[in-house]
Amino acid sequence: MHKLEIKNFSVKIEDKQILKNVNLTINSGEVHAIMGPNGTGKSTLASAIMGNPIYEVTSGEVLLDGVNILEMPVDERARAGLFLAMQNPIEVPGVTNSTFMREALSAKEGKRVNLLEFAMDYEKKATELEMREDLPHRYLNQGFSGGEKKRNEVLQLKVLKPKIAMLDEIDSGLDVDALRIVGTNVNDMVGPEMGVLLITHYQRILEYIKPTFVHVMIGGTIVKTGGMEIIHEIEENGYVNFIG
Ligand code: ADP
Ligand code: MG
Repeated sequence: MHKLEIKNFSVKIEDKQILKNVNLTINSGEVHAIMGPNGTGKSTLASAIMGNPIYEVTSGEVLLDGVNILEMPVDERARAGLFLAMQNPIEVPGVTNSTFMREALSAKEGKRVNLLEFAMDYEKKATELEMREDLPHRYLNQGFSGGEKKRNEVLQLKVLKPKIAMLDEIDSGLDVDALRIVGTNVNDMVGPEMGVLLITHYQRILEYIKPTFVHVMIGGTIVKTGGMEIIHEIEENGYVNFIG
């Protein structure tokens, strides 16, 4: 079992306070959906937890299995078991997709990963995501469509098997089939070994990745926590009833 505890977490960027005293505990086996209007701080939450240095933490702590991760650089956080699928995955020309993932996995495991074993596992996982066969040999995300980038983020997730996966709008730009494939692949990983923080605008992905809790974030703070009834409320009325 794993646990990510976010306590009293406040973050600013360029003198602008974005997150204000966010409290959230994510256990493995749980899916926490975070919803909220644009610009409310959802991506900031995920990126600051992952350790993007543009964010300045002004209060609070983040513990993974009891260990404060805020002192760690990004790569150490990844090794500790955190993963962030970014809203806008970066393209890396010159580095092939499979090389990148094998390096990432080797770094996480602290040892060279056997090439043949890696290649077989990687191909199997790419097939489960119904990805194109030329993918391992292409440069990381370069020329990938929006949907291919998102599937590739989930492929990284499947390869790296983090303890806590933060997925930032993993559903954006996906057609119905891709949404189902991405959703079921993520959902299959939720269990004693992994918990999920799922940032989304749309309820459709939640048909595949069943949330244990739904949180509404407004102005950098979680203003409401509940279950699926919150989704229905947002679908009907937007966020107006949450803005106090
Ligand atoms: P969300 O993901 O909920 O749409 P973000 O976390 O991306 O919101 O952004 C929260 C706020 O932080 C917004 O007001 C946004 O303009 C600001 N912000 C985000 N990134 C930067 C940045 N690199 N520089 C300046 N402001 C930023
Ligand atoms: Mg965002």
